[in-house]
Amino acid sequence: MPKKPEEIIRDDIRALTAYHVPDSTGMVKLDAMENPYRLPPALRARLAQLVEDASLNRYPDPGAGQLKARLRESFAVPEAAELLLGNGSDEIIQMLVLASARPGAVVLAVEPSFTMFRMISAFAGVRYVDVELREDFGLDVGRMLEAIEEHQPGLIFLACPNNPTGNLFDTAAIERVIAAAPGMVIIDEAYHAFADHSFMARLPHYANLMVMRTLSKVGLAGLRLGVLAGRGEWIAQLDKLRLPYNVSTLTQMVACEVLQHGAVLTEQAAAIKLERGRLLRGLQGVRGLTAYPSDANFILFRISHAERVFDGLKQRGVLIKSLHGSHRQLANCLRVTVGTPQENDAFLAALTHTLNA
Ligand code: PMP
Repeated sequence: MPKKPEEIIRDDIRALTAYHVPDSTGMVKLDAMENPYRLPPALRARLAQLVEDASLNRYPDPGAGQLKARLRESFAVPEAAELLLGNGSDEIIQMLVLASARPGAVVLAVEPSFTMFRMISAFAGVRYVDVELREDFGLDVGRMLEAIEEHQPGLIFLACPNNPTGNLFDTAAIERVIAAAPGMVIIDEAYHAFADHSFMARLPHYANLMVMRTLSKVGLAGLRLGVLAGRGEWIAQLDKLRLPYNVSTLTQMVACEVLQHGAVLTEQAAAIKLERGRLLRGLQGVRGLTAYPSDANFILFRISHAERVFDGLKQRGVLIKSLHGSHRQLANCLRVTVGTPQENDAFLAALTHTLNA
């Protein structure tokens, strides 16, 4: 008799709940921080040609040399830094956590923040310590420094702008964290395109700083490409954990080509930032609703009976994200991704109808 899952699969894995992705067929999809715009037709035609000519019978370039050169330029990566590529930044988080998973290792992050920091630490059996943000969602430096002193984390993850709160953390506060950290500090700049701030240029100043980016939020979520920039001595170790050929031929080709026309993505990000302002004003006009200013491509807001509001929106064909129940500071909080003007109008109309129903 073959054994049952409970005899083979680790108890802590069976106790986990899988990352839930709801069905969005036919919905106005404003739940996953995707860019609502497609690429221009001429560029799409060029990509189709590249796919037609691709040698898909061969493995991809394992070092992705061409793509890395393109990324260095597009992201203004300092000379002193090396790059590690992942199948999305999720995979990079996984490589970082696995590589640091010595006995007694600790990953430190803030709460509320991106769930995968916690989940991947659980996958790797690494102790995860979180420090609550201040009530205004700012970084609580005092408590961060205490936690660093007490737990001596090998890795500290700070998403900046933070998901799901949307804000940037104070630069001086982050610098104090970097200075106090005994290990690596990874600044996750997934939402960099919508913020006017980056730690990329500071990489040469700190031996223990790494900056992570992704193409997912700027219009290429379907490609799955994440990027980590840091000192060569760290990147070389992480690279040993990278599965061979983790970035496919198609991803390398398409990313190279699109980044060569990077202005398209910058213009789309600018349109999203404009819409973010309009959406925020729309939300702030709703009585009893608190909307938090955002440096990302989504807006967090608090409203009483949030779950009922979420369901009401869903019934009206608009899918956003409910964070109610995920953390004390997110009670009655919902998160909406900035869509096209039409999508945002549909969302605001559905919200009004839901609240008046
Ligand atoms: N970091 C943050 C802060 C995120 O919000 C996300 C996506 N929700 C990711 C990383 C993962 O992005 P990807 O794996 O698509 O690159």
